[in-house]
Amino acid sequence: MPTLSETPSNAAAAQAVVSTEVLIIGAGPCGLFQVFELGLLGIGAHVVDSLQHPGGQCAELYPDKPIYDIPALPVCGAQELVDRLLQQIKPFKAQLHLGQEVVEFARTEAGRFHVATAAGTRFDAGAVVIAAGLGSFQPRRIGIEGADAFEGAAIQYRIRNAAALAGKRLVIFGGGDSALDWTLELIDKARSLDLVHRRAEFRAAPASVARMRELVAAGRMRLFEALPHSLTVEDGSLRGVSVRSADGTVTALDAEQLLVFFGLHPKLGPIAEWGLELEKKALRVDAEKFQTSMPGVFAVGDINTYPGKKKLILSGFHEAALAAFAIQHHLYPQKKQFLQYTTTSPVMHQRLGVPD
Ligand SMILES: Cc1cc2nc3c(=O)[nH]c(=O)nc-3n(C[C@H](O)[C@H](O)[C@H](O)COP(=O)(O)OP(=O)(O)OC[C@H]3O[C@@H](n4cnc5c(N)ncnc54)[C@H](O)[C@@H]3O)c2cc1C
Repeated sequence: MPTLSETPSNAAAAQAVVSTEVLIIGAGPCGLFQVFELGLLGIGAHVVDSLQHPGGQCAELYPDKPIYDIPALPVCGAQELVDRLLQQIKPFKAQLHLGQEVVEFARTEAGRFHVATAAGTRFDAGAVVIAAGLGSFQPRRIGIEGADAFEGAAIQYRIRNAAALAGKRLVIFGGGDSALDWTLELIDKARSLDLVHRRAEFRAAPASVARMRELVAAGRMRLFEALPHSLTVEDGSLRGVSVRSADGTVTALDAEQLLVFFGLHPKLGPIAEWGLELEKKALRVDAEKFQTSMPGVFAVGDINTYPGKKKLILSGFHEAALAAFAIQHHLYPQKKQFLQYTTTSPVMHQRLGVPD
């Protein structure tokens, strides 16, 4: 488990302005490695990510898949890579602010940056690194007519208050771990529970699927192989949802709450509106400093573009190393820069916490 200090809760975070030398937006592999490269130069950073866990695409999209093109690691699981990066950046004690999407960004008159998250955390940063990959991961929506009006209330994509679901008629959509975990968690609390999945096979842990099938066999819940079709609404309140199976049969289910777990997909989102030069949904940077069109704002990893750009983890690692030097110069222009080796530099050993 990472031992980086994590923000205890969104509510507690929504107070004082956090002042930092560097704010990194995105805790994917490149954002994490940026912490390391800045740390070697003695520069501190805070990191924000909209996901509840660090690792970006590696952790969210393919945690169990092996990666074969990380230098000196012939094969490395994607989650393993994230765990190794977290271990590597541990000496620098960067604070991670997870589960918070950055929604506000502005350059102040003093040349610093004001950044704020949807959860209310505000930062005052000397420089910003955008390591936002393909964008902030957002839940895939149910996509049926009239759903917009209920999203965040009778239709939920993330459960923030499980207690509020007690005694309700629930319909859960999805076939992955989230759908199955919530099914098993809520079965004893709900008034009724139906699970709807588009096909017979599930992606969730086999033990959870087996338990769910036992509950179906025991008549405790129902399982439908179908897709959402339409909502039943009376007097502005959600009363049910109809689902359609592959043979065209439409079945009406009573429901007060729909819990939809169709997975997450990345969306560039607010970053596109920050006045930074974009090219094909990526931030244009130079290939020396990896600075965007705004001085003091850098971009590394999948989010950036420059001639010859390749969206690979190792490219992002290289970009983070060079960006760190450029950030040092941006923050401390008088400071003389020189390259030191981690093998032999006493000051780097001190920063890494290793004995000389
Ligand atoms: C199936 C698959 C296999 C792959 N295999 C390989 C491989 O073998 N080798 C390889 O080199 N690459 C591989 N890649 C690509 C690799 O995963 C990406 O290049 C890498 O993840 C990019 O890292 P990143 O840190 O730039 O961005 P990401 O990993 O995308 O992380 C960006 C993070 O920023 C966060 N974020 C975005 N916007 C905001 C915001 N506004 N507020 C807060 N947080 C925000 C996101 O939530 C996300 O966690 C693969 C990709 C996929 C999908």
